Amino acid sequence: MSEDIRTSIGLRPVINVSGTMTSLGASIVVPEAIAAMSSILPQFVEINDLQRKASAVIARLTGGEAGFVTASCSAGISLAVAGAITGNNLLAIEKLPDVVPEKNEVLVQMGHVVSYGAPVDQAIRLAGGKVVLVGQATSTHRFHMEHAITEKTAAAVYVVSHHVVDYGLLNLKEFVEIAHARGVPVIVDAASEYDLKIFLEQGADVVLYSGHKFLGGPTSGIVAGKKELVRNAFLQNMGVGRGMKVGKESIFGVMAALEAWERRDHAGIRERETSYLNLWKQTLDGRPGVTALIEPDPTNNPLDRMRVIIDTEEAHITAWDLADALGGGSPPIIVRDHEVEHRYFYLDPCNLHPGQEKIVASRLAEELDKARASNEIIATPIENRSKRRFEGVLKWPD
Ligand SMILES: *Cc1c(COP(=O)(O)O)cnc(C)c1O
Repeated sequence: MSEDIRTSIGLRPVINVSGTMTSLGASIVVPEAIAAMSSILPQFVEINDLQRKASAVIARLTGGEAGFVTASCSAGISLAVAGAITGNNLLAIEKLPDVVPEKNEVLVQMGHVVSYGAPVDQAIRLAGGKVVLVGQATSTHRFHMEHAITEKTAAAVYVVSHHVVDYGLLNLKEFVEIAHARGVPVIVDAASEYDLKIFLEQGADVVLYSGHKFLGGPTSGIVAGKKELVRNAFLQNMGVGRGMKVGKESIFGVMAALEAWERRDHAGIRERETSYLNLWKQTLDGRPGVTALIEPDPTNNPLDRMRVIIDTEEAHITAWDLADALGGGSPPIIVRDHEVEHRYFYLDPCNLHPGQEKIVASRLAEELDKARASNEIIATPIENRSKRRFEGVLKWPD
């Protein structure tokens, strides 16, 4: 058996039950994309022609008129906003992020201004956009948005994510209706969404996906939608998009991942993931202080996760100390801990190699047994966790 590439270069061989995380290397790239990337790497191609081919594949899968591949979904937000500001004015494209036409206001609902690792609003500002927040964190009504639109409004951005506030805001259809009534294009950040068609169907003008999340493509972003807006975003490759460029391998890799997506055994994958969740539930049910719940994805992706709720007194350990014990163990298991201060974390079954689900189950059992057997309750202050994280990154590369 060949050595794990990660151990051979001194990296920890992490098991990912966290989800599709940039910080962990996104997703398992599908074999079709790997093969496509190796086949094109030694060849020269005319990049704009390759992007034309990508456009056709993206159009077929998304139902949009055109599309192209860029560095990331975050890059896609910047490029789509830049395109909405400059149109096809090549001089304006070179002048960004200074904006000559001054039609650069971009509406976003306040409850959508989240961080996916960097702030949504920064991706807009990078493109010369002036962010106009609409409504309050947990409340946007039609009147907020109607009054926010001016003659300077270039676009409106809508974020679909488990990170956004999930009540009290305008839904996409209403958002689109209000924007379109005043001729404002709608750009949807659907980075981590499974349905490639629904947002354009609901009236979005441009939709953005990550190539490296559900699709299992290389690190990349997909821009799709109305031809003119997609073209104006594409033209930014001669401007702010230069620093967000992708090579032939990513363009061709995404095309292959999209074609593989059409043929993927989606039901079979779901079944496999369900079997992992059932195994973990069997492992956890009946343990003192542990509640294991199988819950659907909050944005309706066809995916369930396991919520593991920890009663500190009963389990003798906090949810975050358990998460840290798993992450620090051998092999390291990284759980989904965005909300761990609420005393639960999630296990995400969609980025596992077969067999790893058993390791996850036995490590959970091991750490819970150990905690239960301990006379002291393992409870470090939650504040130390994020402090540690930022102290760590500020020391990089040590
Ligand atoms: C992951 C994510 C992004 C960033 O996507 P990248 O392709 O990694 O840049 C943006 N928005 C949302 C909602 C995300 O989940």
